[in-house]
Amino acid sequence: MEEIKSIDIAIIGAGVAGSSAALELCKLGFRDRFILFEREARVASTSRHCNHHGFGILEFKKPLKGLEYATELEIRLQKKGVNFKLKHSLTKIDGDILTFSTPNGEVQYRAKKILFAMGAREGTRASLELGGGRSPNIINTGALQRFTYIQKRRPFKKAIVIGSDIVAFSALMTAKKAGIEIVGMVEEQSEIKSFSLLKPAVELFKQIPIFTSAKDLIIHTEGKEVKSVEFKFGNENKNIECDGVIISGNFTPESSLLQQYFKEFNTQNRSLDIRQNFQAQNENIFLAGNVIRGALSAYKCYFEGQKVAREIAKLLDSKQSSKFIKIETNFKFDWLYPSLVDISAAKKSLCNIRFKEPTKGVLKAYLNGRMMLQKEIDAKAYSTVEVAWINIDVKEDDSLVLKLE
Ligand SMILES: Cc1cc2nc3c(=O)[nH]c(=O)nc-3n(C[C@H](O)[C@H](O)[C@H](O)COP(=O)(O)OP(=O)(O)OC[C@H]3O[C@@H](n4cnc5c(N)ncnc54)[C@H](O)[C@@H]3O)c2cc1C
Repeated sequence: MEEIKSIDIAIIGAGVAGSSAALELCKLGFRDRFILFEREARVASTSRHCNHHGFGILEFKKPLKGLEYATELEIRLQKKGVNFKLKHSLTKIDGDILTFSTPNGEVQYRAKKILFAMGAREGTRASLELGGGRSPNIINTGALQRFTYIQKRRPFKKAIVIGSDIVAFSALMTAKKAGIEIVGMVEEQSEIKSFSLLKPAVELFKQIPIFTSAKDLIIHTEGKEVKSVEFKFGNENKNIECDGVIISGNFTPESSLLQQYFKEFNTQNRSLDIRQNFQAQNENIFLAGNVIRGALSAYKCYFEGQKVAREIAKLLDSKQSSKFIKIETNFKFDWLYPSLVDISAAKKSLCNIRFKEPTKGVLKAYLNGRMMLQKEIDAKAYSTVEVAWINIDVKEDDSLVLKLE
């Protein structure tokens, strides 16, 4: 293996968040102090495969398809002269030494600051615990995109979408492009996991029924063919004929490497804990985009990338170290971030909590056992609740506990 090269900043993942962080670092005059690493052959591989609208308005002030959005990012990175290394897949993290697998073998870099921006991956049928038979015609949205836009092939004619987050609605657009009839969308939760207005809009304009609170889903197959999807819908037993199933969403952060190499990995959040400025417990590590918590819209990841770049630029040459405390909870959540409160910036900070189930109650925050904030919540499943720490003053060793009562 070649000798270890030293760099100031390593950005892992040239998706939306990583690329926007790179562009912001250029704007701040740090162009020659970082390398952007990407495992695929092109940047922005996730949005590149979304050849439908839904991107770009807030970041680039123009409506773009995913592929156009990825191209826009790529052109901007090239124009700025960003040093990006494609086909570099991070495989090992040993303190500040990063090992990448490349077509020419392994290479290693030592970085002062590391930004992880590896995105999220779609859940599998196993992670959804769906019953029934097996078939190659049970696929996720990413695979549907590959069939449609890359292989230019229609995998099936008539399908059911299981799931209802933003990516499930993206599957509807891809299916239309592929000429696949969608005969229903099925969600186990009582509400769809995306913007609530999408349900009436899709039912009215696309004539696709959306079944929420669907229970006991079974995919019926014969040999390798999908025949129908059966589920309980209220008192009815629905059995909808189809020859394909698109399993969508249920995203989880692309964080298996973080889990492998960081003992402080937070299994409930399925990622590393971060502070308000996206810095992890280890001061040299930062996170941005969907690797923090699973899938959000691209524009949110883009703006996170910019913010974290400003933080890294500020802290790169600083010797100051700052302390944090970790928020403890007595309840289950899908995600909670930032889950660390940086002491130096505790006063106006926020934390976002997403529950998997509809959740009602009073959320109370206790600082060293004394209640300092309460908030009534009535949250739909998969909606985000914000907790604002107004005028909070914390010291190292303080205990900050959030309780749902
Ligand atoms: C099917 C689908 C449809 C979507 N539709 C929309 C939509 O219509 N509108 C919208 O706003 N958003 C949409 N999104 C969401 C949007 O694409 C994401 O929010 C955005 O891409 C997240 O940005 P990110 O930088 O966090 O992750 P990504 O853009 O996924 O980037 C992560 C990058 O890290 C790289 N990487 C991962 N591991 C490694 C490693 N070990 N080494 C090196 N590189 C690595 C990946 O190859 C990838 O390029 C959709 C997503 C999907 C999957």
